[in-house]
Amino acid sequence: MRIETLAVKTGMDPDGASRAIAPAITLSTTFERGEDGSYPGGFDYSRSGNPNRASLEAALAALEGGPEAVAFPSGMAATFAVISSLLPGDHVVAADDAYYGTGVLLRGHFAGRGIETSFVDMTDLDAVRAAMRPDTRLVWMETPSNPLIRISDIEAVAGIARDGGAIACCDNTWATPLLQRPLDLGMDLVMHSTTKYFGGHSDVTGGVVIVREPGGTLEALRGIQKDGGLVPSPFDAWLTRRGLESLAARMAMHCANAMELARFLDAHPRVERVHYPGLEDDPGHALAGRQMSDFGGMLAFDVVGGRDEAFAVAANVKIIARATSLGGTHSLIEHRASVEGPTTRAPENLLRMSVGLEHIDDLKEDLDRALTAATR
Ligand SMILES: *Cc1c(COP(=O)(O)O)cnc(C)c1O
Repeated sequence: MRIETLAVKTGMDPDGASRAIAPAITLSTTFERGEDGSYPGGFDYSRSGNPNRASLEAALAALEGGPEAVAFPSGMAATFAVISSLLPGDHVVAADDAYYGTGVLLRGHFAGRGIETSFVDMTDLDAVRAAMRPDTRLVWMETPSNPLIRISDIEAVAGIARDGGAIACCDNTWATPLLQRPLDLGMDLVMHSTTKYFGGHSDVTGGVVIVREPGGTLEALRGIQKDGGLVPSPFDAWLTRRGLESLAARMAMHCANAMELARFLDAHPRVERVHYPGLEDDPGHALAGRQMSDFGGMLAFDVVGGRDEAFAVAANVKIIARATSLGGTHSLIEHRASVEGPTTRAPENLLRMSVGLEHIDDLKEDLDRALTAATR
């Protein structure tokens, strides 16, 4: 089956008794044992397993092409679980433009518990090689990255990690497996915030890790999920599984709208620069063309002027919503520097956009009006 079919079908067999096509939400925390002590339904207690979570995990594993997926209640819980599988004294090499919360977790919580991280420019393979140490156990990458939508080389980074005896994990939240399949390119783990494109409607948080092969890391992740109690609720798992059914259709439109909006902004006199790998002169264009099947729904642009002009553009949009996050049906715009605070890497005149599913002409008109009003 192709990926579009897997997104619709995997883990969605009609319900046993009713033959319902859409799955029920199983709220029961406990499941009946047989007279012989077995669990004929396959579940015993909902922290250890639940039908909605099982359906979601089966679909996520199928989409990324791994044998198993481990679902968590948020993207950060998934990241927390991966790093928690390390031991004090282990060293991490991480992208310096990884998701802001990933950096916060590594610098704060884990650095204080004996897991040290070297932050590197993941687009610079020599810098990645130079950061590897004999005690490096994990290489953490994210591509495309935030907020400059930079592209780093998944296959090459996987090779460097393998040569150094470390496992490699790619945060694939922005691309989704529709556009990019890191396990096929040599990554050991793929992590997602399912809050974004997988849920797809800005109404459920979640996270997942998919492994390339069974073994120690998978067992550690299962242990953290079940024994640590990091489990998504049945309703959250159900919503996320439902989101996956339309993922392929949504991604196609996110990408088409983003490409057209990037070209529009690129030609706009009030825009200094557009960051989008689909543009031919973008530094990530060639690499993205090799490892991605399309360029994604996220873009950023630098407004002519500074912080005040960027704020004014965001203040003047009427259709696009001013909010953080990404991957939903609504287009969102955000002044990233003020969200991230003093340690941000975002330029003050940069606005980030999650391009949604509105009509492209409405999005263009909205931005044109806002840019003209703001920078007159
Ligand atoms: C949102 C996001 C996360 C964190 O996920 P949550 O679901 O908010 O915990 C991690 N990585 C990327 C790339 C994200 O966009």
